[in-house]
Amino acid sequence: MTVYNFSAGPAVLPKEVLRQAAAEMLDWHGSGMSVMEMSHRGKEFISIYEAAERDLRELLAVPDNYRILFMQGGALAENAIVPLNLVGRKAQPATVDFIDTGSWSAKSIKEAQKYCKVNVAASAASNRYSAIPARDSWQLSKDAAYVHICSNETIDGIEYHYVPDVDADTGGAPLVADMSSHILSRAVDVSKYGVIYGGAQKNIGPAGLTIVIVRDDLIGHALPACPSAFDWKLVAENNSMYNTPPTYGIYIAGLVFQWLKRNGGVAAMELANIAKADLLYDCLDGSRLFENRIAPECRSRMNVPFFLRDESLNDAFLAGAKERDLLQLKGHKSVGGMRASIYNAMPIEGVRALVDYLKEFERQHG
Ligand code: PMP
Repeated sequence: MTVYNFSAGPAVLPKEVLRQAAAEMLDWHGSGMSVMEMSHRGKEFISIYEAAERDLRELLAVPDNYRILFMQGGALAENAIVPLNLVGRKAQPATVDFIDTGSWSAKSIKEAQKYCKVNVAASAASNRYSAIPARDSWQLSKDAAYVHICSNETIDGIEYHYVPDVDADTGGAPLVADMSSHILSRAVDVSKYGVIYGGAQKNIGPAGLTIVIVRDDLIGHALPACPSAFDWKLVAENNSMYNTPPTYGIYIAGLVFQWLKRNGGVAAMELANIAKADLLYDCLDGSRLFENRIAPECRSRMNVPFFLRDESLNDAFLAGAKERDLLQLKGHKSVGGMRASIYNAMPIEGVRALVDYLKEFERQHG
């Protein structure tokens, strides 16, 4: 049965990866054990972990002066873990700059308020979250501990297509990005960021694993109140094994990294993702029934929210989609409408099937 799953996350994974995991479920590489049953300190799991770390480093061209941490707690926990690890570099209370572009940056702002002074340097509220505020409008602080962005707003469908330069205005504050929903979907210059973090359950693997990529000099400043398991220094010194890491999630992530490498890495993914996104946005822009409300230069390639101009047709649209095995297209409850998440593992055939259905539905109801 072929279904196309447009869920925002947990989300579609490459079939090849799931088949391999199924084949290895009971006996990993002749060890007689499932990966789930292995000690994280045994040589079998260590080899899985090391390969995953190496492959992710290669895929994202992570420079040597950055550590890759495999953590737990998801991106929302990082909203606390990041300030707990970074504000200690400044006199207290430190100020952190945030760019508010939608639901997930708003959550980051709310959480950080527990640990620092928050300066919302720019907000997309004034354009009803339809565009990223122009960089020259940002009111950054002179001595910010860091500047936080959500580089792809999963709910609102807004993505940065450039890396904002914040050095000059902030006295060299590191840029911190929540990349949960577009990590590995495009090439990224890691050296422009101090910290990159993201939950795995979109482009990487199962929920429960959080990836943190952090520059060396930003490690070792945790506030005394920071839980030990979330202190990047302890996590880094123990190769992500200060506490038991999410072993099965790391294993699946490792298989996804191998799949990405077999398929041309992030450069090839980026080209495919551009083609998929163009196909869908062109269809929406050419429609009288459907619309996407995001400024074209800020549209997400991964998460495409769209609305039926006649909302009374929403249920009929979703029912017809389900009949055609086009699943999980309902928009987030906070914004309504529809949303198609088209991550790396969504083949272009899935987007074609969705576009065919959009056109057919418009012929019937337009
Ligand atoms: N940030 C972004 C951009 C997200 O898309 C999500 C999850 N949808 C989160 C944060 C929250 O992640 P988690 O549930 O893993 O904490």
